[in-house]
Amino acid sequence: AKSIGRNNYQLFESAMNKRAAERLLLAGDLRRALERDEFFLAYQPQVCLTSGRITGMEALIRWQHPERGFVSPGEFIPLAEETKLIIPIGEWVLYTACRQNKAWQDAGFTPVCVSVNLSAFQFGQPNLVAMIKKVLEETGLEPQYLNLEITESITMNNVERAINTMHEINDLGIGISIDDFGTGYSSLNYLKKFPIQTLKIDQSFVRDMTEEHQDVAIPTAIIAMAHSLNLKVIAEGVETEVQQQMLRERGCDEMQGYLISRPLPALEFEKLFHSLPGQ
Ligand code: C2E
Ligand code: CA
Ligand code: CA
Ligand code: CA
Repeated sequence: AKSIGRNNYQLFESAMNKRAAERLLLAGDLRRALERDEFFLAYQPQVCLTSGRITGMEALIRWQHPERGFVSPGEFIPLAEETKLIIPIGEWVLYTACRQNKAWQDAGFTPVCVSVNLSAFQFGQPNLVAMIKKVLEETGLEPQYLNLEITESITMNNVERAINTMHEINDLGIGISIDDFGTGYSSLNYLKKFPIQTLKIDQSFVRDMTEEHQDVAIPTAIIAMAHSLNLKVIAEGVETEVQQQMLRERGCDEMQGYLISRPLPALEFEKLFHSLPGQ
């Protein structure tokens, strides 16, 4: 039995080394991806649950790797954070999303807000607010048409500092959403102090809202709490009519999910944009 254990361990070890080597390779590729123009943004509409009108869109990064094909952000964003490459990549995302939104406005679409995800490491950068300001100036996008999504965990290290940064962002005229809400640990007490405008109900809770289970207790509680704090609520990961109906009945403000559309590259998003009510 001992030798089997050892063999298993060696197998395990070589698998770990393989994984580490894989990550190292991917990190190198990631470093070159910006220069080689391998990233693009996909946009997913956010719509009002009562009118069906588009109120905004979330920008989501996509990486088309020359050999591996699409690498999902779930895989490379954590790596980008570890290697600090998230700084230039995040700046590229913000710049591209703002420039695209401005271009759509200039083309005559009803102005809507673009939401950009900020990672924890980005959020902690001392020059974050200056960088955002520069991007708005360079792209000419008005601040009310930009929204930033952060997760609760961002605030864990230093709550006071995080709140200060949020205020500085708000002072620029930019809204803030708490992403994946309900999966983190921020206390209600902090939530009350955060200068934020929106809560996004995590898709894991929306997924449980099936016809059979009707497991809607958590979304119901989040909606009630958000409204009592004067916050807007967006449900993410809405895939079915049943989920849409349950959320609507409970007064959820907006939704985002495959039921309306998958995240789409700019050109395809534009076609969808045309077809949605309110355009
Ligand atoms: P997230 O911010 O929570 O984004 C929502 C994710 O849910 C996206 O995955 C989106 O494609 C997916 N989604 C949307 N609707 C549905 C649906 O109806 N059903 C299901 N099953 N999924 C849906 P994606 O694009 O793979 O992104 C994964 C995560 O990677 C994001 O989660 C975000 O944390 C991160 N990410 C993506 N783009 C960026 C970025 O530009 N910057 C940073 N810092 N993080 C990003
Ligand atoms: Ca998000
Ligand atoms: Ca989310
Ligand atoms: Ca998420």
